[in-house]
Amino acid sequence: EAGEFSLINRIERIACGNHIKPASVTEGIGDDAAVIEKDSRTFFLITADALIENIHFRQDYISPYTLGRKALAVNISDIAAMAGNPRYYLVCLSVPATTPVNWVKDLYKGMNHIAKQYSLFLIGGDTVAAEKTIAVSVTVIGEAKKGSVIFRHGAQPGDLIFVTGLPGDSALGLEILEKGFSKSLKNSLIKKHLCPVPRIQAGQALARQNIASSMIDTSDGIIPDLIHILRQSRVGARIFLSNFTLSKAYRKTCGDNAEDGFFYHALYGGEDYELLFTTDRKKTAAIKALETELDIPITCIGEITDKKGNLDIINASGNSVSFEKKGFAHFK
Ligand code: ADP
Ligand code: MG
Repeated sequence: EAGEFSLINRIERIACGNHIKPASVTEGIGDDAAVIEKDSRTFFLITADALIENIHFRQDYISPYTLGRKALAVNISDIAAMAGNPRYYLVCLSVPATTPVNWVKDLYKGMNHIAKQYSLFLIGGDTVAAEKTIAVSVTVIGEAKKGSVIFRHGAQPGDLIFVTGLPGDSALGLEILEKGFSKSLKNSLIKKHLCPVPRIQAGQALARQNIASSMIDTSDGIIPDLIHILRQSRVGARIFLSNFTLSKAYRKTCGDNAEDGFFYHALYGGEDYELLFTTDRKKTAAIKALETELDIPITCIGEITDKKGNLDIINASGNSVSFEKKGFAHFK
């Protein structure tokens, strides 16, 4: 009824409004992860995200192993968005009593696959009975040196806006899965949806080289996620559609034409789990070098303006386009 953003605001007012915030809480609700003082040199980064059956996934297209991988990967992505290093995780598993033990074992084998790759250690959780559908709720705790955390606030007028990877593929993969056309991981769009790769290396490099002035991971879509940066940095932005780098599979699926609607999935498609960041123009050469070093596209898609609350999406002909349905062209 209220929308997620406004609901979280109300939650924050009730739960945090009349409490004294502990001095250790550098950032509470509002960024990709909470930032809590660990010691004089280090922060803990703490984030939680759940995957719910028939909302975020269907058992007919995702195996328990792949689900486990994804449940952990999407949380690690929030640590990447703060330029941190993931360390520990907890899992709250809610499953119907009829769930085979092997299903649960496979889920944890999948999580373990990602945990090994990113050096995370399982430290706890909870197991509860569900009536009908499965829910996997994960908490990840990471660390970062003080001074190297990148927040959603921090974007400055004149900064350029960059995104890693190839936007929109995950949303197209989900459409193929939902239509039942295929569930093969050999399809690159489906793979992007089911097996997201958290950009830990990129996040840390952007902090180490002092490149990013603000950052978020793209879980809701480039535009909705950019709006979080704009709101918290109190700035506006201009996005140039002709700058976008899109995958071959995207272009093939969406007809390879340059009409505005062609960009819809790239702008509003969720679950890419790429990094969206802003940077001083002087850092463009460093970003080029990073693109080569990490071997992933890092594309400039626009610029930050001082027009607070204003987001312009400009097409190849230089005209402003609005995707009315989502109503995000103006925001407060
Ligand atoms: P992300 O997409 O990066 O996971 P969200 O948009 O889900 O971020 O959440 C934004 C902020 O709101 C985060 O700081 C998150 O911890 C907080 N948050 C979300 N839901 C709740 C809730 N139900 N109670 C308290 N905080 C919440
Ligand atoms: Mg996030």
